[in-house]
Amino acid sequence: MNVLLLKKYMEMELAEMPKPATGPDDVLVRVKACGICGSDIHGFDGSTGRRIPPIVMGHEAAGVIEETGANVKDFRAGDRVTFDSTVSCGDCFFCRRGESNLCDHRQVLGISCEDYRRHGAFAEYISVPQNFVYKLPDALRFEHAAMIEAVSVAVHAAGLTPVALGDTAVVVGSGMIGLLAIQSLRLRGCGRIIAVDIDDARLKLAAELGATNVANAQNCDVPAHVRGLTGGRGADIAMEVVGATQPVQTALACLRKGGALTLVGNSSPNIELPLQSVVTRQIKLTGSCASSGEYPACLDLLARGAIRVEPLITAKAPLTDGPSWFHRLYNREPNAMKVILEP
Ligand SMILES: [Zn+2]
Ligand SMILES: [Zn+2]
Repeated sequence: MNVLLLKKYMEMELAEMPKPATGPDDVLVRVKACGICGSDIHGFDGSTGRRIPPIVMGHEAAGVIEETGANVKDFRAGDRVTFDSTVSCGDCFFCRRGESNLCDHRQVLGISCEDYRRHGAFAEYISVPQNFVYKLPDALRFEHAAMIEAVSVAVHAAGLTPVALGDTAVVVGSGMIGLLAIQSLRLRGCGRIIAVDIDDARLKLAAELGATNVANAQNCDVPAHVRGLTGGRGADIAMEVVGATQPVQTALACLRKGGALTLVGNSSPNIELPLQSVVTRQIKLTGSCASSGEYPACLDLLARGAIRVEPLITAKAPLTDGPSWFHRLYNREPNAMKVILEP
């Protein structure tokens, strides 16, 4: 089969590999769409150490079942499906509590690190354990289903955020996860949602996707603006989806006393936290990692158009365009969000 291979860091190549074997509990999926994730770009240049070459990356995919293993009862050839990129063990302390995202033996498709290598979905075929496979609603297109990982990250984070009906929320960062977080918070009943970014094009998209107010942090005192909208009090909740000192501090400064901040962004390993402001104002801080159990709800939200992903798709391209798209995204192609490859 044809694959897009990370041959060495900074070098993607179209290659041929044998079709993966279908184990007794696996389904073999003919991949129809696979998104390039930000983490793939960071894997491409070797900065994360999570894509040790040679590796076929790609963990945000959808396709059609080609073949099923002997123990597979609920799926058959021809089913349109997507799958969770995280393969959890099902047996550890965390899995048994229903927190599969925190699994001690978690593996992610399309990752190779010190502990394991699992080829991903920038390929014509991928074999996936049946427990992580979900049928697509008829109305849901493959390229939209391939966005489900990002959607589930936002839905999971919104689910961890203590929202009351009519709350005012601030979302700092209006990239892909931020734009999905805005939509998720609106679905959870937030009244006012203030989108913050430093890019006006993204803020315009945020407004189209449900933000009631937008603020460009480069030319606006965001906390003062938020206080102005909330009777001087500050927002009830905030979500940070960048992962750096400045945006975390902005999010905290926007909150009212007793407010809650959900941290999703994690581009910096460490940040400077205004400790006294958190403690003396009794702010709740929650980290949110990946997702756990949200896929069925996300499929329904996508199929009904309750969460819109089409505006986040920058391009759909054949696998052969993969190498050039990796370079363009690595070089920070202006206004690029999600690129979907179609093997
Ligand atoms: Zn991803
Ligand atoms: Zn586990």
